[in-house]
Amino acid sequence: MLIVVLNSLKISYPADTLAQGFELRLDCFAKLDFDALKQFMASISKPVIFTLRPERQGGRYLGREAKRLTLIEKLCSLHPAFFDLEADTDPAFLSRISQNYPTIKLIGSFHNFLNTPDNLNHLFEEMQKPYFFAYKLATMANSSIDALRMASFVRQKRAEGHRLTGLTMGQEGEVSRILGPIVGNFMCYAAPDAAHIQAPGQLTVADLSTIYRYRKLNAATAVYALIGDPVKQSLGHLVHNAAFEAQGVDAVYVKIRLKAEEVPEFKSLLKSLNIKGLSVTMPLKEAIVPFVLVKDKETLAIGALNTVFSEDGEFYGANTDGVGALEALKQFTNVKDKRIVLIGAGGAARGIAYALKKAQANLIILNRTANKAAILAAELKAEGGGLNLMEQECLRGYDILINTTPIEMPITPSWIRSDAILMDINVQQKEDSLLSYGRQIGAHCIGGYEMFIFQAIEQQKIWLKRKFLETIQPLVRTIVQTAVAKGVKNG
Ligand code: NAP
Repeated sequence: MLIVVLNSLKISYPADTLAQGFELRLDCFAKLDFDALKQFMASISKPVIFTLRPERQGGRYLGREAKRLTLIEKLCSLHPAFFDLEADTDPAFLSRISQNYPTIKLIGSFHNFLNTPDNLNHLFEEMQKPYFFAYKLATMANSSIDALRMASFVRQKRAEGHRLTGLTMGQEGEVSRILGPIVGNFMCYAAPDAAHIQAPGQLTVADLSTIYRYRKLNAATAVYALIGDPVKQSLGHLVHNAAFEAQGVDAVYVKIRLKAEEVPEFKSLLKSLNIKGLSVTMPLKEAIVPFVLVKDKETLAIGALNTVFSEDGEFYGANTDGVGALEALKQFTNVKDKRIVLIGAGGAARGIAYALKKAQANLIILNRTANKAAILAAELKAEGGGLNLMEQECLRGYDILINTTPIEMPITPSWIRSDAILMDINVQQKEDSLLSYGRQIGAHCIGGYEMFIFQAIEQQKIWLKRKFLETIQPLVRTIVQTAVAKGVKNG
């Protein structure tokens, strides 16, 4: 059930239409006006949860416990559908409330603002009391693994027949909220709008409903995710969720910030969370390789993956960066026999270099760390070296220059030829970028979002095992261009 959390009795659009129920955080209300509350309860047709959280559980109610319990009893006379009471509340009080107000369903809650304990089972067992209809466990996620552990725990408890909402707080906790209906969370709590997000990790009811299609998610929904660090700026969640929706695919795409050392534990959680595929961004493109199977020799040789897909219970790696870049270039030129200078020799550059070589381009790879460029060039029988060779390449002449580093201007601007095609694979261009300079001198420029569009469509093809997906191209293009215009960056 999608619950919008309110700090006052005012419900505005779109919360009024999108919410399936409301939680009144009465401890956060500026003033408790019983007459106004009575009127509100009489006017509302959706279920309402009352909460009067004490300071010891992270709430704003500062009075003595005895006074709080008296107030709770008085509030029960307004007959909310649910009352959220801390699991450590006096059992005698809980017993009295459940006897006197049998129609109010009590939610036993526990909050930990420091961490997500290792033994969630133990914590959950300690909360058990016969008066509670359901439970809520909210803990701080200090990593994405904490959030995924919580989601996996909820799924397990749900299978055992418990009614439990398990969510994690903090930026890394966001994913535990989105996956709620998939793992079987009893409730999901959302902010009415961006101005009322109470804590990092809380999403607005509009984002949950429109981007993630929250009310359509269910136990069978397939989960796809972007992993890497950073992932916040990526627009993958906008593109892939819209693509799933347009194709009528029961799947959701989330972003998970993950460090290389967390990959083994992450892998152990994949199946319990119904994760069917991944996009992989830096710095994990090479680190992920030992954890998946790779079918084709070329991907093995590239040694960097940006896509993981599942087949017959196994996870396989693929690379769509190369196809993405090649397709983006093909919209403007044929690369065969063209002299192409590739700046960078990292994960993305490796995929692109292999694709360009396969398309019979004449490749020169230049990198800050010259040795890495030389190694990649030797693999491909291409030329390669340090960035100091750029001047020489400029004088020799090139047809295409591609920046694959995250740096706006990795070379001296005077080495940029106005008669060349310039491509920068970074989606969002800053002011002093290669492309902004290129435009000034009249070079033909290709924005990084072109590659992003094609590599994302390739990922959809791999995940959904479809040969052609050209029909979703206009949709993906519109989403990416709109996001870029708004200043959203790709990770
Ligand atoms: P990566 O594996 O970390 O490689 C980074 C590359 O940039 C390396 O060659 C590195 O050189 C170079 N570099 C880093 N800092 C530099 C600096 N200060 N000066 C000069 N060179 C520098 O990263 P990646 O996965 O290849 O991603 C690179 C960029 O491409 C990211 O910004 C990513 O968002 C973007 N990308 C875009 C798309 C798309 O679809 N448009 C797809 C993939 C990636 P050293 O070897 O010397 O460290």
